[in-house]
Amino acid sequence: MTTSDAPCAVADRLPVRPDLAAVEPYGAPQLDVPVRLNTNETAEPPPPGFLPAVAERIVSLELNRYPDRPHRALREALAARLGLDAEQVWAANGSNEILLQLLQAYGGPERRVAYVRPGYSMYPELCRTALTPAVEVDLDDDFALTADVVTTIAATDPDLVLVPSPNNPVGTPVGRDAVRQLHARTRALVVVDEAYVEFGDADASVLPLLDELTRLVVVRTFSKAFRLAGLRLGYLAAADWVVQDVQKVRLPYHLDAVKQVTGLVALEQEEAFLGHRQRVADERDRVAAALRQLPGVQVWPSAANFLLLRTGVDDLFARLLERGVLVRDFSRRPRLVGCVRVTIGTADENDAFLTALRDVLA
Ligand SMILES: *Cc1c(COP(=O)(O)O)cnc(C)c1O
Repeated sequence: MTTSDAPCAVADRLPVRPDLAAVEPYGAPQLDVPVRLNTNETAEPPPPGFLPAVAERIVSLELNRYPDRPHRALREALAARLGLDAEQVWAANGSNEILLQLLQAYGGPERRVAYVRPGYSMYPELCRTALTPAVEVDLDDDFALTADVVTTIAATDPDLVLVPSPNNPVGTPVGRDAVRQLHARTRALVVVDEAYVEFGDADASVLPLLDELTRLVVVRTFSKAFRLAGLRLGYLAAADWVVQDVQKVRLPYHLDAVKQVTGLVALEQEEAFLGHRQRVADERDRVAAALRQLPGVQVWPSAANFLLLRTGVDDLFARLLERGVLVRDFSRRPRLVGCVRVTIGTADENDAFLTALRDVLA
């Protein structure tokens, strides 16, 4: 046998799975520009007491040992906060991993997913990874999940339904009645992805419906209102059998010990973590009002930390970027032609965005 530092000739490569051959790795651009408003993170860092408290707890971890596989302490803390049993809660590395585990457990080539459009851009990616056929169902002209949309979803006879609430990228929440209808008119696992729910009204969540709807799964994350996008932690709340089923597909020790304890400390400091929500809501409403003053700009009502807007400017994304402002470009997506999504940042960042936009529109 010989070894060589020379790169393999192309002919020697093993081709990737055929359905992945033309795929570009998913992800919004991570560009080093002054104003980054493209991935719906919170602008403020975690509260000042957080990392010192984490450091104090980390020093006593036994990192030579594997972590607690079912991450009981974290699940108990989450369950106590949600008014559920620990057997109804399950955490993973971001809510994206939660969604993937649900697709691995309940999807597959013989199953079918239905998700709404516009909706979260990761749903098609996750379905493809999990080899699960998917149907996209259009929301109505106002991007609402109406009774007609439910009828269309039900007609596809899905095994899983994926619904973001509030919707990403639109910002509107889905009403409890629509979720009840989805559950009543399908035999599917109804997965409501509440990544932004903490930014809305206290009664916006469908969590209280867990008592009533046996196939409801509520998915949440620490990445958005909890200001911990760098931690990669998300969770689900559902019936206990869902939690048992996802354990059939999770990797052993998928949630590392450092992350488990960091999540626990975050929950202990929940009030300090979530204290910024009113500021975000006020800023969102201020930016939305300013956008509505601009001629030719349409903006959707939002209960999240971002706004979807449509302008007549063809290359708005590039022209804002030239001015140092990074937003999320949806302008070439079906149903979102001419749209960009802007995350609510600090007041200064939001002003920089508005100034750049006015400049482009002038
Ligand atoms: C941001 C976002 C998530 C969060 O994913 P994580 O993996 O938890 O960071 C999930 N769903 C939607 C709709 C999102 O916008």
